[in-house]
Amino acid sequence: DIQVHDIRKAFDGHAAALNGLSLSVTSGELLALLGPSGSGKTTLLRIIAGLETPDSGRLLFNGTDAAHRSVQERNVGFVFQHYALFRHMTVAQNVGFGLAARPRARRPSRPEIRRRSEELLALVQLQGLEHRYPTQLSGGQRQRVALARALAVEPTVLLLDEPFGALDAKVRKDLRRWLRDLHDHTGHTTVFVTHDQEEALELSDRVAIINAGRVEQVGRPSEVYLTPASAFVCGFMGACN
Ligand code: ATP
Repeated sequence: DIQVHDIRKAFDGHAAALNGLSLSVTSGELLALLGPSGSGKTTLLRIIAGLETPDSGRLLFNGTDAAHRSVQERNVGFVFQHYALFRHMTVAQNVGFGLAARPRARRPSRPEIRRRSEELLALVQLQGLEHRYPTQLSGGQRQRVALARALAVEPTVLLLDEPFGALDAKVRKDLRRWLRDLHDHTGHTTVFVTHDQEEALELSDRVAIINAGRVEQVGRPSEVYLTPASAFVCGFMGACN
């Protein structure tokens, strides 16, 4: 599991982005971080990934301090908003990138990387597209390639920042259902950011409502919706009008 304890983070000269935030993520769950723009969701995700260092507080992965572990050592896969694919690489090369970039001792052979890429492309239902370039794909297909690339390193934790943010409503809905199936199939611990409450309610096992750099409430979607813990949660979920 992941334990986030009393994390604070302020970017130079700005008000705190995270303001004593605590949260635990259970192994194997699909947890949504839901909250208004600027509430600190992306910052939290980047701290879990190791892309950002907190000013104070503790981060534990399975009970051990993760603060000094590098991004690779944390074994996380992530898809960030507008996190572009490599344009000059084919779909298969994009998916295999994380494996091909490993130090020699831990790098699988080329045929092995190719085999793994093909397996992952089948998982995200993009068989047959391995030789295309990103510009030859639809937006939804690109997002799925990004997910396959994140999954390629066999992460223990998958972090998704608005993975379907840029897509139209219909594609979003399809990918939502598809991500839920994928999660049920792979069982990765997954944390995903959204500001779309319908998406959070429909997709997640639990929802954490983030406001002003802290967690307002965590619970199953129905709990958060039906028994909001604060006026903020109630208002944000549109459940108290
Ligand atoms: P959104 O839903 O709009 O993506 P968010 O909840 O993900 O928002 P963050 O991106 O975590 O919010 O930002 C939290 C706060 O920290 C905001 O006030 C933002 O302006 C600030 N912030 C984030 N990154 C930086 C940075 N690199 N430098 C300065 N301020 C930053």
